[in-house]
This record gives sequence, structure tokens and C-alpha cells, in this order.
Amino acid sequence: MLSKTQLAHIIVLFEQNYGELKPFLNYNNAFQLLIAVILSAQCTDKRVNIITEELFKLYKKPSDLADIPLELFEQQIKTCGMYHTKAKNIIKTSEILKNQFNNDVPSDFNILVNLPGIGRKSANVILGTYFGQNRFPVDTHVFRVANRIGLANSSNVENTETDLKNLIQPGLWMKIHRWLINHGRIYCTARNPKCSKCFINMYCQYYHSVL
Ligand code: SF4
Repeated sequence: MLSKTQLAHIIVLFEQNYGELKPFLNYNNAFQLLIAVILSAQCTDKRVNIITEELFKLYKKPSDLADIPLELFEQQIKTCGMYHTKAKNIIKTSEILKNQFNNDVPSDFNILVNLPGIGRKSANVILGTYFGQNRFPVDTHVFRVANRIGLANSSNVENTETDLKNLIQPGLWMKIHRWLINHGRIYCTARNPKCSKCFINMYCQYYHSVL
């Protein structure tokens, strides 16, 4: 694991290169963010944003989606993959939000993770992005990049989240979450990471171990 001093250097470099990154998914309210998050499983954020541009003109709150025919909604989201499961989960979740939560999205982690289609990472994205809570969502990019750099040392996402939270101050969690995703897309790709061009390679444990 990296020291706090090494972390401080990395934070400065991320700040210089990426600055304040906006959320990657487009939305107008918590419910639309929840839909976008469910759609983003195994799908690029870019594709999700294309789909939701039209979708969000039709669906703004849970009651708009709770009673629509499954087949209709499947057609509207089918270009994002796994659309049958996602459509079922989104409609079921909309029904629950409409009937049990006053047609709104609760800001409670334990409630969110029990909704169809919402796991730990998705709940953390919603709470950190929309509700401004200090959360550290760990997706495939964050998991890979954090463990390569040495910000975490774990073979599973839950312990990676714990490592990151222990190392980094809470106010920076969402910011660094976005930096790590961005870094994973640009430099620290799953295959053939661009280590020689990476601006934090001098602090990266993977880089030094490969060298
Ligand atoms: S040096 Fe390589 S492994 Fe380390 S963060 Fe950069 S791209 Fe990823």
C-alpha cells in the first residue's frame, strides 16, 4: 500500500490533469440517476446517455414507469444490453418506490441495496452523486486502478472499498472515485495499460513491479 505522502503526490497530479470531473451519467433527479445507474451495468456511460436523452423526456418519476408494459420499455432500452433483466428491474423498482416510498428515492443505503437491480456499487453512486454523501463506489475501473497503483491491496471490491476509505479522507472519496474511473479509461486500461505515458507512474506499485 502507498504511504500518505505518496497519496498526496498522486492527488496533486490527478488534480492538475483531471480537475473537478462531473458525473459521467446524465440525469435531472434522483430517480433518473437510479435508472441510468441500472442501465449502466455492462454498458458504456456514453451509450446510456444516448438512451436516456429520449427516455427522460417520458419518465421523470417512479409512477411514470411503474405500470408500463414490460415489452414497451424493453424496446426503449434494448441497445444497452441485458435489456430484459434491466427492464424488469427498473419497472419493479419503480413500483416499490411509488408504493412504499412516496414516489421518491430514499437516501438510505440499506433500502437502496434491496431494490431490484441495485447493488452496493450502484447504491454508493446514487448516494454519493445525488445526495452528496461521502461514499466510495468501487466499479471495475476503480478496483483495477486502485489495486495497481497501491491505493488498495485486495482481490475483492468490498475490501478494496475498505482500503480506499482507510487511506483517503472522506471529503475526497467521490472526487477520487471519478479520477480513478477516468484514469482507467484513458491510461490504466484492463489490457495494455499505457504506463510509459501515465503521469503517476513514478508512484505506481504496478509500474515499479513490472520494471
Ligand atoms: S503506471 Fe500503469 S498501472 Fe500504474 S496507474 Fe499508470 S497506467 Fe496504471
